[in-house]
Amino acid sequence: MSDRHLSPEEIEGDLAGAGADHVRTCAACAQRRSALQLVHAGIASLGREAPPPAAAVALLGAAQRISRRRAWLAGGVVALSLFALATVAAVLMARRSGSPLSVSLLDEIALDHLHYVHLDSASQFSGRASDIATWFRPTLGRVPRLADVEALSFRGARNCRLAGQRVALVFVERAGHRLSLFVMPRVSSRGAGCAESQRMRVCSIPDPQGGTRALVGDLAAREMLRLLAESTR
Ligand SMILES: [Zn+2]
Repeated sequence: MSDRHLSPEEIEGDLAGAGADHVRTCAACAQRRSALQLVHAGIASLGREAPPPAAAVALLGAAQRISRRRAWLAGGVVALSLFALATVAAVLMARRSGSPLSVSLLDEIALDHLHYVHLDSASQFSGRASDIATWFRPTLGRVPRLADVEALSFRGARNCRLAGQRVALVFVERAGHRLSLFVMPRVSSRGAGCAESQRMRVCSIPDPQGGTRALVGDLAAREMLRLLAESTR
């Protein structure tokens, strides 16, 4: 075993010769190398389609263990950058994990909202809440409950597809904020929650009639969950 530990640059690269020999015989450097590989795997798995990744959870644990080991020669720099990367991973996970819906469905919902929200020709039907609910019967196979909610105006409605399924999209407005309400009879979800997608807040609750309904916009999460619940009465 050579007489010095590997530098951060050396330990991250392709090991050959003396470096490889050193890692084989030095437990500290072997651990630093595997921790770094874990970081790269964790960051790579934070793609759009990924659920909160197990690799990133492991990464957090590794970073916490490593940050407690201050005796390392070159390890301090690695531990610091590892901890910074793990913090980024934790923030990304937290932003995603408040919702019972999949990340890909959240993205679809937010993108549909952004596509239609300022398009005045987006509505295929307009009327009172009860008229809109009846209008959806042919495409949903049922009349969704759509209660009048105080200080919420119904601007219009259109048929829409999410995850390959027919859903109802209702355009509503509250205090100058335009929101999109999605009624999704065949999307099941457990519990209520909110998450961010495409810089929009997406909140959802299980629909008492079955399926899920989601509200997209820029109001506070608590307010959006309250509006969702009131819309099902
Ligand atoms: Zn070493």
